[in-house]
Amino acid sequence: MTVAQLLSKLVSFSVLGGESNLTIIHWIKEYIEAFGVETVLVPNTENTKASLHCRIGPAISGGVILSGHTDVVPVKGQNWNTDPFVLTEKNDGKLYGRGSCDMKGFVACCLSILPLLTKATLKTPIYFAFSYDEEIGCLAAPELIEHIQNHYTEKPRFAIIGEPSLMQPIVGHKGICVYDTYVNGSAGHSSGILKEVSAIHESARLILWLEAKMESLIAAGSLDDRFTPPHSSLHVGIINSGILANVIADKAHFAWDARVLPKDSLENIMSDFQDYCNEREKELQLRYPDFKIITKEQHPPVPALDTSEKASIVALLKEINPNHNLGTVAYAAEAGQFAEAGIESIICGPGSIDQAHRANEFVAKNELKKCVEMLEKLVFINS
Ligand SMILES: [Zn+2]
Repeated sequence: MTVAQLLSKLVSFSVLGGESNLTIIHWIKEYIEAFGVETVLVPNTENTKASLHCRIGPAISGGVILSGHTDVVPVKGQNWNTDPFVLTEKNDGKLYGRGSCDMKGFVACCLSILPLLTKATLKTPIYFAFSYDEEIGCLAAPELIEHIQNHYTEKPRFAIIGEPSLMQPIVGHKGICVYDTYVNGSAGHSSGILKEVSAIHESARLILWLEAKMESLIAAGSLDDRFTPPHSSLHVGIINSGILANVIADKAHFAWDARVLPKDSLENIMSDFQDYCNEREKELQLRYPDFKIITKEQHPPVPALDTSEKASIVALLKEINPNHNLGTVAYAAEAGQFAEAGIESIICGPGSIDQAHRANEFVAKNELKKCVEMLEKLVFINS
């Protein structure tokens, strides 16, 4: 199958982050196995989702993992001009469909080089690693990476994560975690505000603490000009509470995210926040013993990516890809997780992140061509 035919097939599986991906992963598994390559599925505990990995080439340490995710973001409420799950080619050189750039385009490129890969005599192996639930917090990658490291005696050295970067090599992304904070206060008539504990008033204090924390990091000079914005950010996006203006709210919830520069420590930020929460609890429990602040992670933190410009993966990328202009991105990706596991990682994939997650998402055919050329070069220099 050509890369466009492969992409068309992959786009036809409307698997959203959080949903079962067994349809698409089994199709990919069968496609790969038709080339005589053994694949390994890494299912979740409920057996409703699975990641896949496989190795092509010699059983020796080293080599490159090509990594992609099989889930996409929803299309609901978006104004699409074509059916999002039917890959549509227009005469502008672009292929339209959900996931065409984020990031089934890269997966299609990987699958398209299977004939070449399986015929080549590789010096070091090439691995495929395809995950699920990336779009809802890079949930599956840690288990997939661990599985790869335990399954094969030999250790892969590099990973190329094909998130859309217009084929620019990306050496850095911020870390991210998303939190829910629940405040449990006491209800009462608004006139009693000094003897009750308003969950809204306390939430406001916590939110302003987060803002002040972000500003203090900036004021302390914790900046990295490679990123936009060049600082870690803390932001509250949802707040729920209250029934009436004259009723003290006993419960409040707010959801927020922390996007952290490689040089900042999410752990330290969280521990400072927790200290402040403990302080507030101690003080307000004198007034209302059941006063509580509970913060939960929506998903485990995704670590930042900070690959050195001198890293061997950068040298490799320069050898196989004509774009040598190293960059960073604003989004978080599985690359930080591969790097944390000791695998030198870089992001480089077809299409632009500007098209991702939007209506009329597309990938330019020329981008796919460049990506296939990069992967072919990877095979060529390695055989
Ligand atoms: Zn993606």
